[in-house]
Amino acid sequence: MLLKDKVAIVTGASRGLGQAMAVDFAREGAKVVLCASSIENLKETEAQIKSLPNTNCILTQANVSIGDEVCEVVKKALDTFGKVDILVNNAGTTRDNLVALMSEQEWDDVLATNLKSVFLFTKACARPMIRQRSGSIINISSVIGITGNAGQANYAASKAGMIAFTKSMAKELAKRNIRVNAIAPGFIKTRMTDKLPDELKQKVLGQIALGRFGEPKEISDVAVFLASENSRYMTGQVLVVDGGLVI
Ligand code: NAP
Repeated sequence: MLLKDKVAIVTGASRGLGQAMAVDFAREGAKVVLCASSIENLKETEAQIKSLPNTNCILTQANVSIGDEVCEVVKKALDTFGKVDILVNNAGTTRDNLVALMSEQEWDDVLATNLKSVFLFTKACARPMIRQRSGSIINISSVIGITGNAGQANYAASKAGMIAFTKSMAKELAKRNIRVNAIAPGFIKTRMTDKLPDELKQKVLGQIALGRFGEPKEISDVAVFLASENSRYMTGQVLVVDGGLVI
């Protein structure tokens, strides 16, 4: 098992990529702190983890863009398991619109949920990780943060910001043996992409070299690698996992 006795916090663990990563981390031996905006939403992920032998997880609720609520999640992790080894900043949202039509609220909501949250969780976990002189932080960005996308300027800016934050934190925390990396997924089948118009899906499909959309498991496999000692000489990197959408 690659993550035996590690403690991992996964935000946005109620569905999609977060659910896949939480379940795979548990399968690899980690104790997992699941976080979403409501405990009820986490019950399905908890059931999947409980169906695996010798697993352990707790459920926490927070709006990831509110500092006090984030601190409570990290405190619960420390009170329950005594340490935090792995942090996955995965919770995210979209409010797509052309900038000429985009409200201030649509901009603020996306930047707060996708980017401010990464600052808040990293800050809250940095102290215990510095104390234990180890840690792996994984930020789930997007290829859109590299290429940009019409109608998604708020989302693209938040995801590009995550990449710059990842590189800065890698430099800030390397001396304490804390690694910080990002994954930039392409088009993965989740609720976030389900709601896109069929016409757009077909257009994107035509641009993917491997000729298909990705599965959440194909992101969680990479997240397990980044969380584990197998990636011990990697920090400040962005791994693009997109089936060859952006080459
Ligand atoms: P999803 O199915 O929409 O899941 C989003 C998760 O984030 C849910 O668990 C949701 O939990 C949580 N969340 C949203 N706002 C929150 C808030 N304010 N506080 C706490 N939790 C919140 O999305 P997904 O496709 O799995 O995407 C996961 C991450 O990957 C996102 O950051 C997304 O931008 C990124 N990504 C996805 C794709 C893709 O193709 N799917 C591609 C590139 C990047 P509740 O609603 O239950 O609270």
